[in-house]
Amino acid sequence: MKNENITTLDNILFDKTNKLYEFNNSTECISSDEANFNDKIKKRSNKLTWSYKKDKKILQSVDSVCPHCDSSNTIKHGITHRTLRFFNETIKRLCIQRYKCNHCGKTFQTDLSSIVDKNANITNELKETINVLFQECRVKLRPICNSIAHLGKSKFCHQTVQNIAEDNTVDFKIDPYLVSGYLDFDVQWIRPESGWSYRFVLFDTVNNIPIAEKIYSEETNETVTEFLTESLKNITVKCICTDLDTKYKPIIEKLGYNHQYCLFHTKMNINKKLKLKSKENKDNKEYQKTHKKLKKELYSILDNSNYKQSWDQLNKLAKHLEGYNKEISKFITETLQPFFKSFKRWTDDNKIDKTTNKIENYFRVTYPKADKRKERTIHGVITKLNHRRQQWIRNNSKLEKTTKF
Ligand SMILES: [Zn+2]
Repeated sequence: MKNENITTLDNILFDKTNKLYEFNNSTECISSDEANFNDKIKKRSNKLTWSYKKDKKILQSVDSVCPHCDSSNTIKHGITHRTLRFFNETIKRLCIQRYKCNHCGKTFQTDLSSIVDKNANITNELKETINVLFQECRVKLRPICNSIAHLGKSKFCHQTVQNIAEDNTVDFKIDPYLVSGYLDFDVQWIRPESGWSYRFVLFDTVNNIPIAEKIYSEETNETVTEFLTESLKNITVKCICTDLDTKYKPIIEKLGYNHQYCLFHTKMNINKKLKLKSKENKDNKEYQKTHKKLKKELYSILDNSNYKQSWDQLNKLAKHLEGYNKEISKFITETLQPFFKSFKRWTDDNKIDKTTNKIENYFRVTYPKADKRKERTIHGVITKLNHRRQQWIRNNSKLEKTTKF
């Protein structure tokens, strides 16, 4: 039974890896053959090639330019070794060509950045495979780990798989001291073909930039709490504005922050509850008259910058709710009255925004609705989001231009 499970997962892995290779415009299957391994390396970078010296196979640069001074006047200068873990290969100990620069005299080695991060031994290929399995195929960490060990014919640490899987996020965070503390929080739904993901963003409305961003596979009290706790470390929060999602307010207040509801969303919600355009009310003149008047009254309560005045206005209104439809009456007594402060935080401080328009604009620009059908994988989306965020910060940031990201 156990072996059957592994075989099934191996098939998925092969399938998925072939897909990964298709992304690189190749439909060739991989195998652990030496020739195919050589090709696999070349496919990841056209700057790498193999050379053979006696019985040694050495990985070297196609053109060896000095990374210190950009000179191409360089000579070969011995060999170093890297022990690397690829997907579906036994652990490889590779010979890497070293070079010496005739111009500046410094030494360097073949640039392997397309294959593996500096000082790492888990290759990018293996990381990508883990991410595809975890994020897109929703395979659990334990079977991923077992299968990698099985295919590589040596143990693979569960913690390593977990670290890699959890790292597959936009995961962007700005220096806390740059943040104004006036924030919007919202979650955007992202749908690559493989299923929904959730883009959590905290947005600084004074500086007009995102301050933290992360992709989650689900939106729950736990993930929202985790994101806010992690992202707001060392930040002096003045207020966080959200839409009417009922999860957000209690979490934000439990963390000890002021909360403001978006008044634009509130007004849309009021309109919905007033049911002015519904079949039964459309031609009822009395209904139209009273409820249009109520709408005006509610809008004026929300927009009044004098807190005390609007609070009195609301309480006066709440005493005479007979004649209004049940839904709007319920909204007034069960939401507006008890949580009134959350609709009026902006009256304390003119830097607090009344709406979440800014973060929504950011969502619209960096991941427009039209894009929701374009990307096939979460990786494609993440690459795009990272790129567009940098673009946004360059074009829209109100921070001083000297600040580097
Ligand atoms: Zn040099």
